[in-house]
Amino acid sequence: MVPGRPVHVYSIGMRERFRGITVRQGMVWQGEVGWAEWSPFLDYSPLESRSWLKAALEMADIGYPPPVRSRIPVNVTVPALTPEKARALVAKSGCSTAKVKVAEKGQSLTEDIARVEAVRDALGSAGKIRVDANGAWTVDEAVVALTALGRFDLEYAEQPCATVEELAEVRQRLKGRVLIAADESIRRADDPYKVRALDAADIAILKVQPLGGVRACLDIAERIGLPVVVSSALETSIGLRAGIALAAALPELPYACGLNTGPLLTSDLVSDPLAARDGYIDVRDVHPDPALLVGAGADAETTAAWQQRLADTMAQGRRSPQ
Ligand SMILES: [Mg+2]
Repeated sequence: MVPGRPVHVYSIGMRERFRGITVRQGMVWQGEVGWAEWSPFLDYSPLESRSWLKAALEMADIGYPPPVRSRIPVNVTVPALTPEKARALVAKSGCSTAKVKVAEKGQSLTEDIARVEAVRDALGSAGKIRVDANGAWTVDEAVVALTALGRFDLEYAEQPCATVEELAEVRQRLKGRVLIAADESIRRADDPYKVRALDAADIAILKVQPLGGVRACLDIAERIGLPVVVSSALETSIGLRAGIALAAALPELPYACGLNTGPLLTSDLVSDPLAARDGYIDVRDVHPDPALLVGAGADAETTAAWQQRLADTMAQGRRSPQ
């Protein structure tokens, strides 16, 4: 699959702990048509990493569908920071949409409210705020929290609870006061269309690597019948390029995308990273800088572990078709 091509394993720190992750690791290589990134999270099995590899092979050897826009509106991503840090991050981002992490382990709703309030203060009334709970709330907790956070005029709430059934119940109980977006319920589900069947969400979050590539995501977008937001899987600019390609190729793009996550990493593999300028990322190709590739290179043990992961993933049968 990557015959005879040198693969580079990277290990890059996160600026702030985000979704429990402090270091991001992955593999990049140059294919027939472009650079590819394969970076399934460390707790993902070889079976689950298979769709990530399919996406990477599309980046390397197939390329992307033609773009219908030249720049992508993006949000600033706000980890579970103090209100002061959250306000400063949003103010300097240049973005008019913010995605705020809530329901962080070990934190309280009071802290979520203070963070969202600070972000609203930084954005002003015209800015848009979405929150992401990563499935951490129970249904009752979600209804209480989103009712409280609703006064800051939320654009939507991403994955308030873990299951599709719970999302459907939260959505029903909130009666449209806060729109619900499904993320993990699509990308880690056997059936991404269950969200639609159960009326569990108003918006679908699509991520290129977990869902098997740009074309696979375009197919889901067409079939799922919901507005789509493209988000990253916390890749370097090499992997983000594929998310940009998806956002560029979608016929409709009604919301800012969650692709401005490069700044969450302490460094990147390209000298001119894909990061927001005035709230947009331009649609363009990227190539690693050889010195940055070396600088971010993982140690021998980590490199060996990733080569084993790749071998194990390649040895897996394909996931059953969706
Ligand atoms: Mg999410």
